[in-house]
Amino acid sequence: MNETAATASDPRHPERAELDRLVACEYCDAVYRRMPISPGERAQCVRCGGELYHESRRAYRRLLPLVVTALILFIVSNAYPIVEMDLRGVRTQTTLWGAVQALYADDMTLVAVLVFATTILFPLTEMLMMLYLLVPMAENRMPRGFDRIVRGIRQTRPWGMIEVFMIGVLVSLVKLSTMAEVLPGIALWSFGALVVVLAAMLSFDPRDLWRYLERPPR
Ligand SMILES: [Zn+2]
Repeated sequence: MNETAATASDPRHPERAELDRLVACEYCDAVYRRMPISPGERAQCVRCGGELYHESRRAYRRLLPLVVTALILFIVSNAYPIVEMDLRGVRTQTTLWGAVQALYADDMTLVAVLVFATTILFPLTEMLMMLYLLVPMAENRMPRGFDRIVRGIRQTRPWGMIEVFMIGVLVSLVKLSTMAEVLPGIALWSFGALVVVLAAMLSFDPRDLWRYLERPPR
């Protein structure tokens, strides 16, 4: 893993330095040489108009507070009940984990696994991987296994579907409200907030993390 030592500034790898300066359009695969741009500016593809990159060399610094907020909201969302129902005097409440267990007990194993993976496992894995990278990066250290973790983040990202889950919960709440008295729990609100924080967090392109390698800590 001494790969990270060979960076753009390494005179022993001039061809690699040249490669690091190239950027491919994500939409039409046109290749450009990366030019320095100022914060707030965007480089656009002349062929298709897609955004190539924006100045984000230090964008990951703003990411750490978002990831920590998301983790706290995630813990709250899982620790408290999502809904409380009152069906003719019988009160029941459920947490997300309780819902997964109930699905499993009802022989809906596949649904239980899907809900668990898309709302707990993958979002949590991505947040922990981000934290693992961002804490040492904030201290200008190089996290071990940087390349594997960045690839991991890109791979787990499509599997986190908390917002899909939220829509499902809201639809069921509206339907159930005709049969029972439905009280939204703390977790429902924190899930709502989590969706917003995650959206902000996911607007960050993990490809930008690679740029960190070009300016490694001494
Ligand atoms: Zn293009």
